[in-house]
Amino acid sequence: MKKTDFQPIDLRSDTVTRPTPGMLQAMMAAEVGDDVYKEDPSVNALEERLAKMFGMDTALFFPSGTMANQAAIKLHTRPGEQLICDQWAHVFNFEGGGASFNSGVSCRLVVGNRGMITASQVEESINPPDFYHSPLTSLVCLENTTNKGGGACYDLEEIKAIREVCDRHGLGLHLDGARLFNALVEKQEDALQYGKLFDTISICLSKGLGAPMGSVLIGNKGFMDGALRIRKILGGGMRQVGFAAAAGLYALDHHVERLAEDHLRAREIAQQLQKTRWVRAVEPVETNIVIFSLQQGRSDQEFLDHLEQHQVRISTMGKGVLRIVTHLDYTLEMHQRFLALLQEM
Ligand SMILES: *Cc1c(COP(=O)(O)O)cnc(C)c1O
Repeated sequence: MKKTDFQPIDLRSDTVTRPTPGMLQAMMAAEVGDDVYKEDPSVNALEERLAKMFGMDTALFFPSGTMANQAAIKLHTRPGEQLICDQWAHVFNFEGGGASFNSGVSCRLVVGNRGMITASQVEESINPPDFYHSPLTSLVCLENTTNKGGGACYDLEEIKAIREVCDRHGLGLHLDGARLFNALVEKQEDALQYGKLFDTISICLSKGLGAPMGSVLIGNKGFMDGALRIRKILGGGMRQVGFAAAAGLYALDHHVERLAEDHLRAREIAQQLQKTRWVRAVEPVETNIVIFSLQQGRSDQEFLDHLEQHQVRISTMGKGVLRIVTHLDYTLEMHQRFLALLQEM
């Protein structure tokens, strides 16, 4: 490996960020208490703030996005039932089979567009409730922005149409909003619009927002009534976790608007990738994720090794498809260095 004075560039995920000095200071200064008794003022403040921001009744802090999604699925379903989601959905692909393990539900997979499904696809996927041979459909899970779909953002009109289908058929509607703030910033949407459409929403503090841990499940009464018990059962009841919540509060103050910077850099990387001889095609870039494929005859490993020699890390999705995610710790200096490297290729 070539020795340089430069810091390595890590673009594998937006989860690799470290707390900034300001965030660390906020964490150190946090007022804390026992959150299992609901006595942690920082956690309570974070939950209240997010519930209010989305215009929903309550919110609950979770250690991870996976646990927040899994709790939501549990709240919406009973064993044997079925949820509808895109074939690339995180809840189906990347949560260790949790939907079946924790809730005993199956997933009806829809072949969507870049991880997004339509109202008519949802309607076609609902099993007739009187036909007792098939699983009872009870929940629809959407993802915004999509992860495997490359940071794509839903059209709010489509979500409204899906909400109508759910209302007509008595289905719950959950949003896996791990990167919802990326969509809000990019499309200049308001969190309140989402609060009106979904029964439950999970958001991640540890992705683009740059906190070291934590997710929050936001929802309306009725759906959220059992959430505290489910979190306890899943092992997610934590004690003086206000230190982490304080990082989340700090992120909401300081790291939301700046997501636009990550999006701009992702677009600039995509433009440069398009010009390199190694690359066959680049997926459209809407937010902070760039997915691209290599020319035939070029292997993932070859590309990764080449970047690694220049202290750059990205991730592979297999079969010549690679992924880059921009984030808070990807500085302008790193960006210029990476673009120059791509240009040489
Ligand atoms: C990251 C992510 C989650 C949650 O992941 P954790 O690592 O458990 O916090 C959920 N959904 C999507 C779409 C994600 O990208």
